[in-house]
Amino acid sequence: MAAQAPRPAQRERLTVLPRAFSHITAQALVPEQIVSYVTAVGQSQALLCGGCAAYDYGDQRTLIAYAPGAAPGEDAGEAAMNAAVKAALADGISSLTVLGPARPAAAPPEAASREDAYFFLPLPAGEPGQNLRNMLRRGSRECAVTEETWNDEHAALVGMCRDARPLEAGMRHIYGRIPDYLAASPEAVLFAARDASSRLIASAVGDFSGLSAAFYMFAFRRPDCPPGVADVLLQAIVDRAEERGHQYLNLGLGINKGIAAFKGKWGASVRLPCVQTSWEPAGRPAAPGARPDASDPLAVFAPPGLIGNLRRVLLGETRPFDCLQIEVSSRCPGKCSYCPHTTKQDVWRSRHMEDATFAALAPLIRKTKRVHLQGWGEPLLHPRFFDYAAAAARAGCAVSTTTYGLTVNDANATRLTACGIDIAAFSLAGVDEASNAARAGIPFGGVRDGILALNRAKRRAGSEYPRVHLAYLLLASGTEHIARLPDLMHGLDVPVAVVSTLDYIAAPGLEAEAYAPHETEKIEHARALLAGAAERAAGMGRTLHYSLPGTHGRNDCNERVQSCMYIDAEGVIAPCIYVNLPTEEHDPQRRAFGSARERNPLEIWNDPAYARFRARLASDDPDLPCIACAKRFERIF
Ligand code: SF4
Ligand code: SF4
Repeated sequence: MAAQAPRPAQRERLTVLPRAFSHITAQALVPEQIVSYVTAVGQSQALLCGGCAAYDYGDQRTLIAYAPGAAPGEDAGEAAMNAAVKAALADGISSLTVLGPARPAAAPPEAASREDAYFFLPLPAGEPGQNLRNMLRRGSRECAVTEETWNDEHAALVGMCRDARPLEAGMRHIYGRIPDYLAASPEAVLFAARDASSRLIASAVGDFSGLSAAFYMFAFRRPDCPPGVADVLLQAIVDRAEERGHQYLNLGLGINKGIAAFKGKWGASVRLPCVQTSWEPAGRPAAPGARPDASDPLAVFAPPGLIGNLRRVLLGETRPFDCLQIEVSSRCPGKCSYCPHTTKQDVWRSRHMEDATFAALAPLIRKTKRVHLQGWGEPLLHPRFFDYAAAAARAGCAVSTTTYGLTVNDANATRLTACGIDIAAFSLAGVDEASNAARAGIPFGGVRDGILALNRAKRRAGSEYPRVHLAYLLLASGTEHIARLPDLMHGLDVPVAVVSTLDYIAAPGLEAEAYAPHETEKIEHARALLAGAAERAAGMGRTLHYSLPGTHGRNDCNERVQSCMYIDAEGVIAPCIYVNLPTEEHDPQRRAFGSARERNPLEIWNDPAYARFRARLASDDPDLPCIACAKRFERIF
């Protein structure tokens, strides 16, 4: 959500805030009371409500309702919290989130609360246990820890961690603001772990702005970082906190099992309850344009807010589902020769998803890391495509799409850059007009223009998102063209291409364009060309991924159906795109387990028939559509 101009009353208050804020920060018990941190990272406006810190983020307010000066493990001041809540509700806000030691008395019954606890390590820390001693010994053999200032190497490490998992726009933004936080907080210290060749392998930020509590803030490490290095970095923060006379180190919340185990290993025992409660004060409408009209079905996708974003960054809060692939439209003017949209035109059901259907998916979307907007059709033809993307991003998902590219003109490229999408993939089946001819009705030049328009829009916006990918279909008749793909990537400044082969045989005769598991010679030839292309692309600083069938099926498939789902334009949930084509015909391969318009989608996931389908795939007894499915045989390179 774009930051709003402060209301006049707040502006008045902001002129007297710095001194009051240093008082809050000096007595901070929880990281959200470090005002320079929240304002820099969350780009929010700070104010005081009843003596507690609060932050306005657009028209949403977050109140940090811990009484200044309280100690962890003691009464953290429920009375003070309730007074602060009253003050926070005193002017026009559309939503209030309270972070405090208990549920506020003023919260209406329907307000959702989530309970957790901050973990504190009392200082000086006791003798480490055997396990921790071993880790510290091992970690200190692997690295040396120094105090550093932020530089490109640190930015690259954060970028590596950021790109390793799906992140929605709000979180990506926060990662990008870490240098601003370090610059704004003189008491925040960046510790770096370097290996014997001086390579940065991990970093951690300790904040020593408070008088009694110090804070373990961010931590990053390379995927190949050796065990024990994270402990060595935390030891450096503990040592510094002890030197400075802090009584506690706040290690954050225990929400994530892995983090809780890490904290337990360090002997963090003292707890401070943390209850997060959110509601929308009655009769206080949102500022115009701040969020969707309440009558819009997409209004159910409330933004995670400042605290939600900060928590996901700091705690690595996890969601159970990896990806929802959502077919927002099955319409398409293309006539690609290999696509069932073309070969089954007489029975094709062309339709856009309705807003109410997308809204019905909200319970599922909130539990999913990535939403990929694409099905059997062209997603950008949907009149509310950008609103759907923004809604999924508001719900805390990374959002991506695959497009045929023709609708990406300058205006739509600007909207793509602004709607929260992190990956926009452009489909191709060749490297020029002639080799791409199988994509009839979709001129290669139009796709190229779409990519260039998006590159321009990103430059205008000063944004690296959405990352542009090529979704390249390798047809067997065009295998040789793949050698030119790295040059195309370079020419269009595309960092990543994902090359797949024909998985769905849409009409008799198309088998020749696919790679069947038994066609080992054909596969080997393609593999050699693809490996060479991937190497050339790497030499140009680009990444080319590809998949090809192996000889044996697995007890799993590349659609990762144990953690991903496909939802068609009518809200019908299926394991993958191949078992629910939008056709009006009897399809013995169809496996659909219910519509989100009729049942809670989480119930559908748990439906016994759906669970059985997944269990069969995981065993040696896959269901009919999976037996010969290419996705069960493919290996990703
Ligand atoms: S653009 Fe996509 S949906 Fe349209 S015909 Fe081609 S492959 Fe099918
Ligand atoms: S193996 Fe089964 S679930 Fe997986 S993609 Fe193929 S048909 Fe779908």
